[in-house]
Order: sequence, then C-alpha cells, then structure tokens
Amino acid sequence: MKFISMDHDTVLKMQDGQTRIIKGQVLNTPPKYITFKREVYITTDPDEIAFLRARPSFGTRIIEGVAPDDMVVTEAVIPMFTCTKGDCKHVASNRDAMKAHRLEAHPRKKSKK
Ligand SMILES: [Zn+2]
Repeated sequence: MKFISMDHDTVLKMQDGQTRIIKGQVLNTPPKYITFKREVYITTDPDEIAFLRARPSFGTRIIEGVAPDDMVVTEAVIPMFTCTKGDCKHVASNRDAMKAHRLEAHPRKKSKK
C-alpha cells in the first residue's frame, strides 16, 4: 500500500514508547514512527495502514495510492509493444522481446530458393 503526503518528510508518531514489566523484567518498547520518504510511504503492515487511514488528515493531507500529476516522481512508464501481425495481439514489454516474438511466431517465409 502506498500513501502520499502533501507535506514532504512527514513523521507521524504511531505509538508511544512503553515500559512494561514482564516476569520481573523491564521491557522497553521504543515509540513507533511512520516516516514518509519525501512524500511517499509504502507499507504492507495492516496496523500501519489502519493507523494512516484513521488520521484526521487522511483524505486531505495524506492520500492513498496514486499521486496527483504534479507529484509523480517515481516509476517510469513501461512501454508496451503490441504485435500487429494479422490478428495476433501478443504484447511485449520491450522492442527486443517483440522482435523475438516476431521471429518465433511469424517467421519470414523464404519464397525463393
Ligand atoms: Zn505476433
């Protein structure tokens, strides 16, 4: 899951640090922070996702998924090539893969000897 913050390098405190005593042992849990890298934070942790969705700023300052056009900074678009031979609709992710497909699926007929 990808979250986008309107502010760069947003730091959210998700959990306070805790001191617990378990079986006579003092156990310190450090506070948990969610730190956006520039405007992006990517997580698969369901707790973090729930926390971010529950923020009052969610939907305004923090949004989910796709960034507005002027904020897209990552991930170049992968060009797709579609085979146009007959009704073949083979799709390749790059030119070389398409060339290989064409050689294999549509070999040139050698009509003359
Ligand atoms: Zn083809």
